[in-house]
Amino acid sequence: MSNPPQVAVVGGGLAGLVAARHLAAAGGDVTCYERADRVGGRVRTETREGYRFDRGFQVLFTAYPAVQRELDLAALDLRRFSPGATLARPGQRSTLADPLRSPKRFPATLFNTEVTVGDKLRVLALRSRLARTEFDELFSGPDRSIAESLRDRGFSERFLENFVAPFYGGITLDRSLSTSGHVFEYTFKALSAGSIAVPAAGMGAIPEQLAERAREAGCEIEIGREVTAVSSDGEGARITTADGDDVGADAVVVATDPPTARSLTGVRSIPTEARSSVTQYYELGADLDTGRRLVVNLEAEGPNHVAPTTAVAPEYAPGETTMVSATFLGEPEASDEELAERGRRALESWFPARRFDGFDLRSTVRVPFAQFDQPPGFREGLPGPRTPDGPVYLAGDYTRWSSIQGAMESGREAARAVVADR
Ligand SMILES: Cc1cc2nc3c(=O)[nH]c(=O)nc-3n(C[C@H](O)[C@H](O)[C@H](O)COP(=O)(O)OP(=O)(O)OC[C@H]3O[C@@H](n4cnc5c(N)ncnc54)[C@H](O)[C@@H]3O)c2cc1C
Repeated sequence: MSNPPQVAVVGGGLAGLVAARHLAAAGGDVTCYERADRVGGRVRTETREGYRFDRGFQVLFTAYPAVQRELDLAALDLRRFSPGATLARPGQRSTLADPLRSPKRFPATLFNTEVTVGDKLRVLALRSRLARTEFDELFSGPDRSIAESLRDRGFSERFLENFVAPFYGGITLDRSLSTSGHVFEYTFKALSAGSIAVPAAGMGAIPEQLAERAREAGCEIEIGREVTAVSSDGEGARITTADGDDVGADAVVVATDPPTARSLTGVRSIPTEARSSVTQYYELGADLDTGRRLVVNLEAEGPNHVAPTTAVAPEYAPGETTMVSATFLGEPEASDEELAERGRRALESWFPARRFDGFDLRSTVRVPFAQFDQPPGFREGLPGPRTPDGPVYLAGDYTRWSSIQGAMESGREAARAVVADR
């Protein structure tokens, strides 16, 4: 009997873990090398003194096809946000619920003055068109920016400014709505078809589960092992590790963050322009009483949105503690304390009848490379899993689109390519 093919997977983020699992399940002798002290990459949770701090505000869209396929959602013990959002500006808050899924809130939604009735009807029409379209089809056809595609469908400037900019600004980390309309449609369909949620133990439970599944399939995961070079010749591929190992393999899957993947492989079509964000966690004396809905900021100043962290998932803080997170887009130069002051001022202006005496900054998470930039048509220029020559393959959100869906899907695609070729 011949030996099983040896495969090295570089990077233990979502893409690398999914690739490793499928490769091991297909009979490969797989080792995954992860530079950090734990798996997860951009999806991690730090636990300190009973608090859970995700690596930036992120959520799981339960309807994503790869999420359905790759994860045991029941075992993640999900805590779900309510659909819709609370729209906030100084002295004023209103609720935009999803009328189809929160019928009791429909009157409040219908009379919400931030968004017109015509726009609400256009939302329902868009929703039913997307419900009839398969996820796979959503990235085909001509692409325009989110703003242009919504204007073309008759949505008002008010709707764009008062809902889409802050809400999708939070998803795409780009409040200007210059991101690809295809990304908007994909996430909009997922929002309509499922929920947005976090595992009770934090977002880091997602890669932990993927790692467990990869190990069960027979994959070895080596933590704290940085790969510094990848090469190939007629015989196969090699990797060099920072601690001096030189390891041969039949195939290497490079599943690092985009800038590292570009420098390891020299593939210039790997996108490296970043979207950044800063998320702060605040302890409050009492709950905001906005339910489990995101609070989005209609003004450009201050945090883009505030998430009612412990109202959604009480497990994120000890005992009865109330904690919220505030996310600022980009890379603000302000100090942690200055940002917290901006967060506090925003909350005070949105909730003028409340006092914020117990306000306490618990953590600041700055993420310089959260997503890569996704302008209209961005998919046409992305590399595929086989773009590097020979036995070196690519996996990572940068081969699909910047999301949990894109990362997991890319891992499976890369594994399929390796299995088909070798
Ligand atoms: C703040 C933030 C908010 C987001 N919001 C959402 C959201 O709400 N919903 C959503 O679907 N997506 C969201 N995303 C995007 C999503 O998290 C990413 O697209 C996805 O996690 C990328 O996974 P990946 O495996 O491709 O890459 P990464 O997570 O970057 O994984 C790469 C791995 O490779 C390792 N590595 C790097 N270099 C080396 C090396 N030389 N040797 C060995 N290992 C190496 C890294 O340590 C890392 O573990 C968000 C991301 C961030 C950061």
